[in-house]
Amino acid sequence: MYDINKVREDFPILSREVYGKPLVYLDNGATTQKPRQVVEAMVDEYYNVNANVHRGVHFLSQQATDLHEASREVVRTFINAHSTNEIIFTRGTTESINLLAFSLGEAMVKEGDEVVVSAMEHHSNIVPWQMMCKRKGAQLRVIPMTDEGELQLSVFEGLLTERTRIVCCTQVSNVLGTVNPVKEIVRIAHEKSIPVLVDGAQSVPHMRVDMQDLDCDFFAFSGHKIYGPTGVGVLYGKEAWLEKLPPYQGGGEMIKNVTFEKTTYNELPYKFEAGTPDYVATHALATALAYVSSLGMENIEAHEQELTRYALERLQRIEGMRILGAAKERDAVISFLVGDIHHLDMGTLLDRLGIAVRTGHHCAEPLMKRLGIEGTVRASFALYNTKEEVDALVEGIEKIRKMF
Ligand code: PLP
Repeated sequence: MYDINKVREDFPILSREVYGKPLVYLDNGATTQKPRQVVEAMVDEYYNVNANVHRGVHFLSQQATDLHEASREVVRTFINAHSTNEIIFTRGTTESINLLAFSLGEAMVKEGDEVVVSAMEHHSNIVPWQMMCKRKGAQLRVIPMTDEGELQLSVFEGLLTERTRIVCCTQVSNVLGTVNPVKEIVRIAHEKSIPVLVDGAQSVPHMRVDMQDLDCDFFAFSGHKIYGPTGVGVLYGKEAWLEKLPPYQGGGEMIKNVTFEKTTYNELPYKFEAGTPDYVATHALATALAYVSSLGMENIEAHEQELTRYALERLQRIEGMRILGAAKERDAVISFLVGDIHHLDMGTLLDRLGIAVRTGHHCAEPLMKRLGIEGTVRASFALYNTKEEVDALVEGIEKIRKMF
């Protein structure tokens, strides 16, 4: 069984206080806290193994390289990719998408071509595509959504033309919590031989993802949102696609031979990994993935779904509560507004009660515009959150509501 008290013991930060109140950390969509195991893996590597990877013949370099490459295999298994050649280490989701937008743009986007994104994307799955479109003279097309926060798939089909070069869609909205039918989106796009990038930043921490089952062509996620360190993430790409794309950055690691006249590139995945990777972070990311696997992704999902149901039910009873989005399939993220209390005031006052939530546009300004608002308060849950913490949030909101 899922022993929440035992799980919480793995996260030292959860027992600290802020403003003399027990910390209630509900900003997990922004970043998650780190279990002891992850921090200890980093400390251990810096104390006992540290050396640059791939280049050295000496013992430490080989040991660091082994840890780094073993981490790639851990990631491959975790997302059920076909091969480690398909796992590119990046700095995070944002860099993964920038890499893809650049390389795919160079390889196959021409004037008049189109890129399809959804109405609920994070800026990091809009702006890199917009920049590439500007460079290439291409256009962005947007999959619209309903007022409930569900993508309109019938409209989506109609957006796909012979000029569409890629479809980019988040698996889980970081604002509405909507779980998008990405498998269906992939199926529809593939009927027209169009590749699909899935932004997994908000899905990977909460549900099992399987590249071979989803069949998407590219998938991006960040280590720090799944209990790993900051500064490391992954771009998954089908090998056949990655073979076709040119490198993103030049430098060490990504080359086979260099002369002043010509450079030949390294094989996958190194072609896309210029420079010294954050090999301590990749090892720590693998430790984080091993940690969630040991708890069981199904158990984590069940725990968080139960918590989300409980929170929705309690929050809905608050006078003046407006929860944004009402998708049938939803994840552990709840955005809300209460009466005419400004989201920033609500967030600041909750903070004084020890409750950490996020406020603002959540890097999704086009979605805010679609909803006709400037921002929301967002509570997002993780594997260590409890019903008592949801109660604290609800009581905190009630207290603040009465003050206004
Ligand atoms: N995509 C989504 C859906 C997100 O929620 C986030 C971060 O909040 C990102 C992308 C960007 O992630 P990162 O800042 O780790 O690159």
